[in-house]
Amino acid sequence: MAETLTIVGGGLAGLALGIGLRQRGIPTVIWEAGGYPRHRVCGEFISGNGAAVLERLDLLKLLEDAGAIRVHTAAFYSGSNHSPVRNLPAAAIGLSRYSLDATLVHEFQRLGGELHAGTRRPENSFGEGTVRASGRRAQTTEYGWRWFGLKTHATNVDLAADLEMHVSADNYVGVNRINGGQVNVCGLFRGRPGQSGESGFEFLRGKPGSLLHARLASACFDEHSFCSVAGLSLKPQRAADQSECCIGDAVTMIPPVTGNGMSMAFESAEIAIEPLSRYSRGEINWAEARESIARACDTAFAERLTWAHRLQWLMFSPVLRTPLGKTLLRSDTVWNFLFTKTR
Ligand SMILES: Cc1cc2nc3c(=O)[nH]c(=O)nc-3n(C[C@H](O)[C@H](O)[C@H](O)COP(=O)(O)OP(=O)(O)OC[C@H]3O[C@@H](n4cnc5c(N)ncnc54)[C@H](O)[C@@H]3O)c2cc1C
Repeated sequence: MAETLTIVGGGLAGLALGIGLRQRGIPTVIWEAGGYPRHRVCGEFISGNGAAVLERLDLLKLLEDAGAIRVHTAAFYSGSNHSPVRNLPAAAIGLSRYSLDATLVHEFQRLGGELHAGTRRPENSFGEGTVRASGRRAQTTEYGWRWFGLKTHATNVDLAADLEMHVSADNYVGVNRINGGQVNVCGLFRGRPGQSGESGFEFLRGKPGSLLHARLASACFDEHSFCSVAGLSLKPQRAADQSECCIGDAVTMIPPVTGNGMSMAFESAEIAIEPLSRYSRGEINWAEARESIARACDTAFAERLTWAHRLQWLMFSPVLRTPLGKTLLRSDTVWNFLFTKTR
């Protein structure tokens, strides 16, 4: 008789793990603090190895049925500098978290998984047999900055590329196509503690005179989809340094500019399926399962995190708005190198 596994956090990592375990017949319970479906702060752009994991977990077809679209082209803008519109080396997937999370929940339950939504588990409940998939660890400030994210959906937006990334001194905002003919407008912002500001929509619209502002001039925003998140920590962490069994953002958060956080959530979930199944069947003990998951996650993500942090630094550096920035944005070599290294 297999032992029941508990997953705390029913986001992408927790749900993908739950589905993988149920596919192997492992009794699994997920505890989720929030409800479904709901809007989440996310660029809703799945890029990298995550799509292959979704395929292996038989989820890709379900997401296509839920309306997922392929995102083929991208362009970056910073002040008067910009890249050409480029084909992505591999197409990404565009699907709202509202639909994505709901599809995964449905599949987990269809496979016989037990879900308790609307219930927050206490911090002292992470003993043997419990996986932490509870997302990012909140941090008020980092390197003296307060980081926050905003997201909304909009219609009536004309884009030059399927994904446009608009970079300015204290933020970057991605505007990309998703399902239902909508675009996702999502940004990462930084401010000094105590600094007050505009409303969320004004932040997302960009400064008057900017290309972002012009792009969104006729946009119809879906107010119900607006959401925000603060206290983000973007400093890389190693899974092996953590005493609990962690997957997804609970291990570490990759800078959102890479569009790779969801992929890492799926990849870490897949890494965890086999060791946890073996633990549940009594073939290995908890420490062995936890250590093998942590080792595999660190090996898979270390280089990607290093390059993602360099890319994040570049996004906020004034260099992008100089003549050197113009050359960097236009260089296919730089683009291909950074794209490959951050996923
Ligand atoms: C501004 C911004 C833009 C982004 N854009 C992209 C993008 O375009 N592409 C991309 O791939 N990634 C993007 N990401 C990152 C991506 O959203 C995350 O990496 C991904 O959601 C991580 O999944 P997760 O399951 O680890 O965490 P989450 O999706 O955050 O799920 C964690 C879940 O745990 C629950 N929870 C927490 N504590 C408890 C508790 N004690 N008890 C029960 N439940 C609990 C929470 O309610 C939550 O539902 C972006 C992030 C930000 C901030």
